[in-house]
Amino acid sequence: MAEEKRQFQAEVGKLLDIVVHSLYSNKEIFLRELISNASDSCDRLRYAAVTEPDLLEGGTEFRIRLIPDAEAGTLTIADNGLGMSHDELIANLGTIAKSGTSEFLSRLTGDAKKDVSLIGQFGVGFYSAFMVAGEVTVISRKAGEAKGWRWTSDGKGEFTIAPAEDAPRGATLILKLREGETEFLDAFRLKSIVKRYSDHIAIPVTLKESETEETINSANALWTRSKSEITPEQYKEFYHHVAHAFDEPWSTLHYKAEGAIEYTGLLFIPSSKPFDIFSPDRKQHVKLYVKRVFITDDCEGLLPPYLRFVRGVVDSQDLPLNVSREMLQHNPVLAKIRTGLVKRILAEIKKKSEDPEGKFEEFWESFGPVLKEGIYEDFERKTEILELCRFRSTHSDGLTTLADYVARMKEGQEAIYTITGDDLAQLKKSPQLEGFAAKGVEVLLLTDPIDEFWVSAVNKYAEKDFRSVAAAGADLGKIKAAEGDADKKEDEAPADELTTLIEALKLALGERIKDVRASERLTESAVCLVAAEGEMSMHLEKMLRAHNQSPGERPRILEINPRHALIKGLAVRVKAGGTDAGIEDAASLLLDQARIVEGEPPADPVAFARRMVAMMEKGLVG
Ligand code: ADP
Repeated sequence: MAEEKRQFQAEVGKLLDIVVHSLYSNKEIFLRELISNASDSCDRLRYAAVTEPDLLEGGTEFRIRLIPDAEAGTLTIADNGLGMSHDELIANLGTIAKSGTSEFLSRLTGDAKKDVSLIGQFGVGFYSAFMVAGEVTVISRKAGEAKGWRWTSDGKGEFTIAPAEDAPRGATLILKLREGETEFLDAFRLKSIVKRYSDHIAIPVTLKESETEETINSANALWTRSKSEITPEQYKEFYHHVAHAFDEPWSTLHYKAEGAIEYTGLLFIPSSKPFDIFSPDRKQHVKLYVKRVFITDDCEGLLPPYLRFVRGVVDSQDLPLNVSREMLQHNPVLAKIRTGLVKRILAEIKKKSEDPEGKFEEFWESFGPVLKEGIYEDFERKTEILELCRFRSTHSDGLTTLADYVARMKEGQEAIYTITGDDLAQLKKSPQLEGFAAKGVEVLLLTDPIDEFWVSAVNKYAEKDFRSVAAAGADLGKIKAAEGDADKKEDEAPADELTTLIEALKLALGERIKDVRASERLTESAVCLVAAEGEMSMHLEKMLRAHNQSPGERPRILEINPRHALIKGLAVRVKAGGTDAGIEDAASLLLDQARIVEGEPPADPVAFARRMVAMMEKGLVG
């Protein structure tokens, strides 16, 4: 077969461009990335060989070899792992399969500083070779296959692929180093890079110097060493390897479970949010090993989706080595490991939340919205998770716990009040909050999309209901007013006038509203919209519409403020003159502006504009 020429997927082209115009100050990390890939590939072959021993033909000792060649100006990184077939070379080294890649790349600004930290969350893996090499050749033969292939590219948009004679099993990467990058041929330099970044790799990494070849890493799995022998730096490098991450771990949890079920866990919670944390697959990311043999990085049952930010490895003593994915699905051992892991992780988060040095807010900003999914997905641990939650509230600018909220509740207050929306600043100005503010009642300001779901699914915390201030029937009447701030009934429009006005508004608005009521919650605004008790909140309705699910628009309740000058004026006018066109226009305008405050357009923008101009004309010019 002749040589084929192929184009990189557009996303790869873009990524390569960034990589080559080197964002990285420490280019040496390319070696970590390539050794990491080689080690993964050996791991995968070892697992495949459990059921298919023939795959190991040609060598059962795994090894990653570094071969610098000063004359040729090349650095070769060779592994005897699983290798790649023709099609896999094309797919793996020509495209990026990660979901959300285009979206991620579109966020790159071109500003090197900002992009470095962004790309850190993404990880460039194999493509980092082009930071130091003007040309990369990959010779690969997949275990079990007879034919090998040669992949070559200068990283400028195209690569070629052709058959390769005598290709050894695994992948051999030949990096033709750019001018100025020859330091990566120096044995001393290579050793120190490997020591620094890849010491924990469980497979021997060897360096060939003239005639000799020596192993330059410790070559035992980090998690099998005792904690006292591992430095924070080594933990961090292992985290970078296992998570394909670049940040500092926010928390490192290393323990050995002994007893009925034996396993070792080496788990990390990142400090920054991975770019794909909200991708729809909600996959967990802890790798499963059995007696040090890598089994899978896609074991669904190992952790619940709400802990998908956790990275690391779990190494079980009890599962059989030849465990298949199907077997894992309903495996009782796995279920027990999962329970153990969840318990440890939640305990660790709790411990850090109580530690003043624990940077808990950093964790919460990154992963709070994910953890909150557990409130309704993990029924048994609902309360435990709720206790870890932090909230913005009207009490102060910082974050609060539910326990602190409950401690601040007012006399006569029976529920924990919440309001949901997408923007904190807007939410703070909601008319629905006015009455609560006037009585000094604290309200939780919930701005994560997930909040809509758990708030309606969870009934109580510490015997207190969660109740939305945006739903009708918020019981301000029962809550004692603050000292010297008695309820001001005398300021209201007289009851009979109010009743007539309410009737007139109902008549004018007809089907457009569900009801009109006098409000207890308003102090500043003339009107506001609220959802009927038990109905979907307006915010949720809006969210569903944004996701192209139309729940249909349900008519809302229009609440009017009996203490507001405009309402009082209208009440007098209706009482005196009955309904007229003026009242109809006023009713429509009030409804429309209440919608606007909720972030919704007026039902009929043209009619709204016409009425408003007419009203202004009368008020300002006429
Ligand atoms: P990642 O490792 O994050 O998936 P990379 O760009 O580093 O991304 O690699 C892409 C894919 O190419 C890997 O997922 C793997 O399937 C394949 N690959 C890379 N290096 C090797 C190797 N040395 N042996 C076998 N497959 C490899």
